[in-house]
Amino acid sequence: MVIPVFFVIHWYASYFLQAFFHHRYASHNHVTMSKRSEKFFFLCCFLIHGSSYMSPYVYGIMHRTHHIHADRPEDPHSPHNEPNFFKLMLLTRNNYQKFYNSQISAAENLKKNLPEWDAFENIAHNWISRSCWIVAYISLYILFATAWWMYLLLPITITMAAFQANVVNWWGHKFGYINFKLRNTAKNMFPIDVIFIGDAYHNNHHKYPGRIKNSCRWFELDITYHLINLLHNLRVLRWRKS
Ligand SMILES: [Zn+2]
Ligand SMILES: [Zn+2]
Repeated sequence: MVIPVFFVIHWYASYFLQAFFHHRYASHNHVTMSKRSEKFFFLCCFLIHGSSYMSPYVYGIMHRTHHIHADRPEDPHSPHNEPNFFKLMLLTRNNYQKFYNSQISAAENLKKNLPEWDAFENIAHNWISRSCWIVAYISLYILFATAWWMYLLLPITITMAAFQANVVNWWGHKFGYINFKLRNTAKNMFPIDVIFIGDAYHNNHHKYPGRIKNSCRWFELDITYHLINLLHNLRVLRWRKS
């Protein structure tokens, strides 16, 4: 059972880093931290996201663009522009690469307070690093997979961070329930979110993007918020002063 256990741990570690570092810290500046702590989390993202490492700087620009233009043609990853899940993932990747390579220039307000570490990303982001991670994942599966179906998890392992982001971008604007009537289609994906540990409350998040806690109703549980609170209590980060 090495592969299923690895997959579950990888899933949650990967999603927590994306929800905390890329989304709530980088994109929304809900919390602040020292440059040393920031570099530590850059490193964690590289070790956990591996071949699917995403720049929090570019993620932040795209996510802020999404909040401003949700569901409109300018939205860089809307299922209403591209309904097919896999084509949306490809479209998002292409838009990401254009921002990363500065083929699309972002407005100054979209770049404000985003974490940057160019020297590190020259290593973490290049195709050699990504290829090494893919070889490592394939080797792990060959060594430890004990049933054919386990190999079905391999494409998700290789694309983990991008896959998870795409599920939220696609599903979170297609299916679920709403607490708030908005001008966009953001939905809460399910009532009790143990899969995206709080980011599935996408309707709540679009209503209150400035709030660090996504849960609004008594049964909604934002696990990421509680983990961030723990990091706060450990003095790893500070709440943003408003
Ligand atoms: Zn959204
Ligand atoms: Zn957001």
